[in-house]
This record gives sequence, structure tokens and C-alpha cells, in this order.
Amino acid sequence: GPQSIKICGKIFFPSDINIRMDAQKGYSIVYGEIRAGDDIVDEVLVSVFRAPHSYTGEDSVEISCHASKYIQQKILELLIRNGTVAAQPGEFTQRAFLNGKMDLSQAEAVADLIAAESEKAHRIAISQMRGTFSDEISILRADLLHFASLIELELDFGEEDVEFADKNQLREIVLKVLSITKELTSSFSLGNAIKNGVPVVITGKPNTGKSTLLNLLLKDEKAIVSEIPGTTRDYIEDTVVIEGILYRFIDTAGLRETVDVLENLGIDRTYKKISEASVVLLVADINEGLTALNETLGDLQRQLTGSDRKLMILVNKIDNDINNKKEEFCDKPILNNNEQLLFISAKTGSGIEELKSKLGELAGSDKVQEECIIITNIRHYEALSKVTESLDRVVSGLDNKIPEDLIAIDVRQAIHFLGEISGEITTDEILGNIFKNFCIGK
Ligand code: GDP
Repeated sequence: GPQSIKICGKIFFPSDINIRMDAQKGYSIVYGEIRAGDDIVDEVLVSVFRAPHSYTGEDSVEISCHASKYIQQKILELLIRNGTVAAQPGEFTQRAFLNGKMDLSQAEAVADLIAAESEKAHRIAISQMRGTFSDEISILRADLLHFASLIELELDFGEEDVEFADKNQLREIVLKVLSITKELTSSFSLGNAIKNGVPVVITGKPNTGKSTLLNLLLKDEKAIVSEIPGTTRDYIEDTVVIEGILYRFIDTAGLRETVDVLENLGIDRTYKKISEASVVLLVADINEGLTALNETLGDLQRQLTGSDRKLMILVNKIDNDINNKKEEFCDKPILNNNEQLLFISAKTGSGIEELKSKLGELAGSDKVQEECIIITNIRHYEALSKVTESLDRVVSGLDNKIPEDLIAIDVRQAIHFLGEISGEITTDEILGNIFKNFCIGK
């Protein structure tokens, strides 16, 4: 804030005695000592930023010191004793928002960027932080403001029976905005999966090689592997980044112990896990042949019908196809639309690269392009859903020749919800919720 450079000047002594901190220009770095009375605490570099050219938009200084915890603590103590206060979580970004350096969705993207665990999640966050989503929202808002002004003009002159707005033109504006809001809301399931990990359930009969496959995928990537026992301890969840995407592999432990795994799909928990998955991997042992696979496949296919969950059948142990069963699987058309079948060996790794790239395709990784906007934030999703609802009412209002003043209400509502995303319309509660999740100092 405005006192930062002055306060820093009380404990920092430039090695060039002609330099006065309070006269120091922005975007400059000064070398010198931090002192506590006569004691030298450290030799440091101080970067000076002058409003409005800083992250928060206010005057600020950054002190680069040596990494000792003691030194850091000492400098903080000195600063606080001289009149600074420690920042709250997210306070820097909140100030940046309040000072107009970024809108609310960009501020939220800063938190996403800090939390990004994979290349794709990083890519979405950085694009949102740089304003692609905000720009889209302001274009939509401008279109709707234009629409509202046409309708309201007509309302003002309503009694004179003048028609300012061509109804078809109005309809076109709303339809255009609607198609974009619908596209954005429908990107949320992909965005959410990429941000929090694409859920993949591994299922199949016992001894088909599920654990071997999971271990191979996890080991291969040498990634951060956390074993999170499920809340009910019925399943194990492992996360791993493969080709830029974070996956959550869910190996339902219950399935391992039950013999007729998929015949018992009535088991609620299994249903639940499968219903939460984006991709289901059904592992089969090649030596057990097609008959064994069919015992489990039918039920699973029935369960997945009509959902957008993807099924991939992995015929495992291809390295050990002693009875030459491969043909069986190739001959018979067992797959429904959009299902895939791969031959793999979890033991030798054969087919695993193909599995990884197929997983990426199924997870929608190709949709995360530079220019494409993907919603990852539930707050944005909810606001956009409300925009869509309001605009659906506008369209049916126009079609049914509903009075303009009623149509205007829905248009204003849509504008309001778009404003909530960018933070033009906000409350302390919304802000409090957003910034409390930040780390201290950002
Ligand atoms: P799960 O019960 O489905 O988790 O099966 P496991 O992963 O425990 O594997 C069962 C047995 O099959 C173990 O003895 C594995 O070593 C073996 N196995 C797993 N995958 C392969 C494979 O690709 N080839 C061969 N030959 N054996 C495998």
C-alpha cells in the first residue's frame, strides 16, 4: 500500500548512500542491507513498484533476502514493528481485483494456477487469468445491454406505437448469446474433470490383472502418487498425471473380493463409483476367453447406456495367450458404439502407450486448445446456467409475443448473472468465500 516504500526505507539501507527510498522510481531494484539497530540482518535486493504498475495496483516493495527462516522472520518482525500488517490469504489478489487490475474470474484463475497439478489444468487457468473468459463474458454482456436498450427504448415510447426493435433481430441477438452460454456450461464437466482429475474406474473379475495394470500406470509415470483410502475404505483412489492430464484411478476394493463382480453390480457403492466415472476400464484375462468377458460385459453396457461415460475393454495378459484366444475377441462384434477394445499386457507393458493416448482422447484432452474456453469453476457454471435459463425465457417470450416489460426483466436478470462472474456485481460474502481459499501472501 501507499506506506510500503516509506516503511521499507526505515529498515533498509541502500549501499549507495545517495539513494533515498521514498524518491526511488518504480521498476527499479536497489541493493543494500536490512538492519535492526546497528545489527546487519542480511544483504538484500529491494524491488520497487509504483502505483498503478504493480500486481495490486498500489505502491509495493519486494525484498529478496537469503532463504534462512530466521532472516525471513526477523525481516517480517522489523516490518511489522515499523507499521506494516501481514496480508490475509488472498489479500494481494483481492486488492488487485478491487483496484481494477483484474476481474473476479481472473482473480479466481490465480488460485487455480497456484493449485494446477497438470499441464492441461495449468493451460486452462493461465488462459482464464489472462482474460480470455472475461473477454467472452464482456462481449456477451455488451450484446445483452444492446438488446436491453432496444427493448427499453420501445417501452419508453410504448404508447406511441413505435417499433424500434425488429423482433427477428432481437431474437438473433439472444440466440447467439444463448448458444455461447450453452457451450460454456457444457464445457464444465470436462473442465471440472481436468481441474480435479478425470475419474477412471478400473473394474473386472478377480485376477484379471487390475492391480498390476494400475501399478504399471502409476510407476511408469513416476508421478506424485497419493494413495487415498476412500471415506468408506471400500475403494482405493490413486492420482497420476499422464500426458498432461490428471487422472483419478479408482480401484473398487470390493470388486476384488467378489467372484461374480459384475453380476453383483447391484452393489450400490460400485454403481456409485461407476456412475461418477468419466471412463470405465473393464479388464479381462485373455485366457478366460470371450465367454468370461461376456458374463460381465452385458450388465456393464446396460448400466452405461444413455450416459456419456466411456467404456474401454482391456483384454490383458496378451503375452501369455496360450490357447490362442485373441481371434475370439476379434471375430465377434461385442462392442456398442463408442466403446473400445485394446489388447494389453500389464506385465510386459505392451499396448500401454496406446491405452494412455486413448485415455487422453476419451478424457477430451484434444479439446483443451489455446483458443478454447473451458469452465472449471462451479460459481461460473451456476451463474451461466442462470443466464441460460433467463435467456430461454426471453426467447419463448419473444415467440409468444409476451409484453416487452416482462421480457426486459429476464434480460436484466441475464445481465446481472454475467456481472456476477466478472465481479461487476458482487457481495462481501462472495468475495470472502473466494479469497479465503488462497494461500497467504497471494
Ligand atoms: P487383480 O485381482 O485383477 O487385481 O489381478 P492382479 O493384478 O493381482 O493379477 C493377478 C495375476 O495375474 C498376478 O499373478 C499377475 O502377476 C498376473 N498378471 C497380471 N497381468 C498380467 C499380464 O499382463 N501377463 C501375465 N502373464 N500375467 C499377468
